[in-house]
Amino acid sequence: MTDSLQTLAGSRPLRRAVVTGGAGFLGSHLCTELRRRGVEVVALDNFLTGNPANVAHLADDPGFRLIHCDVTDYIHVPGDVDLVLHFASPASPVDYLKLPIHTLKVGSIGTNHALGLAKEKGARFLIASTSEVYGDPQVHPQPETYWGHVNPVGPRGVYDEAKRYAEALTMAYRQTHGVDTAIVRIFNTFGPRMRPSDGRAIPTFVRQALAGEPVTVAGDGAQTRSVCYVSDLVRGILALAESGHSGPMNIGNPHELSVLQIARDVIEATGSVSEIRFVGRPVDDPMVRRPDTTLATEVLGWAPEVDWPEGLARTVDWFREAVDVAGARDETGNTVDAGAR
Ligand code: NAD
Repeated sequence: MTDSLQTLAGSRPLRRAVVTGGAGFLGSHLCTELRRRGVEVVALDNFLTGNPANVAHLADDPGFRLIHCDVTDYIHVPGDVDLVLHFASPASPVDYLKLPIHTLKVGSIGTNHALGLAKEKGARFLIASTSEVYGDPQVHPQPETYWGHVNPVGPRGVYDEAKRYAEALTMAYRQTHGVDTAIVRIFNTFGPRMRPSDGRAIPTFVRQALAGEPVTVAGDGAQTRSVCYVSDLVRGILALAESGHSGPMNIGNPHELSVLQIARDVIEATGSVSEIRFVGRPVDDPMVRRPDTTLATEVLGWAPEVDWPEGLARTVDWFREAVDVAGARDETGNTVDAGAR
């Protein structure tokens, strides 16, 4: 696998990319890496769950442009575009449970617009799908051939079904309009620039541990997650973009940890005196999560390189430097319930 991304499959040049959700956690890392590889980037974001501060380091870069727009409205990007990376969507359970209709709209109408942009420009299109399309899985680990176990009328259905619809729409554009599409199913990813109160396990635990507050584990913490450091994910996504593969393709770290283990490791990595507090488990919270990454390894030669202790140490360092942990609360002023991930 090459680290340079000057061409797409078929020797098509990659000069200019559009990243929807470019001011979010993953989008900002993708913009940064694309610029490092010399690709011009236009980021589109409405700052609903993202923040221009995430790409502030690119503000003076003439090869980078951040446009404030909502992709559920008409999208217009002047000039050539070679690649559209569609990442706009609330992603944490706290966000999508608070924004259910927007989540469905950005997955449906927003995806339709992003696909329309790729069609208009003759660009390759890659959508950020999710391990949530597998729901609370009955097959473990989850290969791409598994169709999932999703409750469409449960609270998480707004996200899971939006992504499942987005995958179907992507395939329809591929088959009907010949758009060169790819679907990546992202498993839990962590690293710098996660919001300390976004409700996902790792940032919540790190913030709580650094603040010396109880670390809130949902249920008995026996449920598992497989967590991927963000640089590994970005490398896999750009390799998929560069390949001609359509996916769906799982990208995630297959190393599986119980949520209780994650909490204990965070307390140790932060040197915290925090205790663990067990809280209620959210509805439809998946019991297990682990990607089968055989396809990514075979097609892209991809495998994660940053192990959990190293990724955690880098994340803790970033939180210590960048985050006011004592001031980070959700809007209610309460510590966010770290269950819903
Ligand atoms: P994030 O919330 O940090 O980023 C999402 C970005 O999209 C934000 O900047 C937000 O402001 C923007 N956005 C939302 N609605 C928009 C709209 N209508 N128009 C323009 N911008 C809009 O989340 P993230 O973790 O960076 O996730 C990015 C993508 O990756 C999402 O599509 C998510 O479903 C997917 N994903 C992430 C993970 C993960 O572990 N982080 C796992 C699976 C899938």
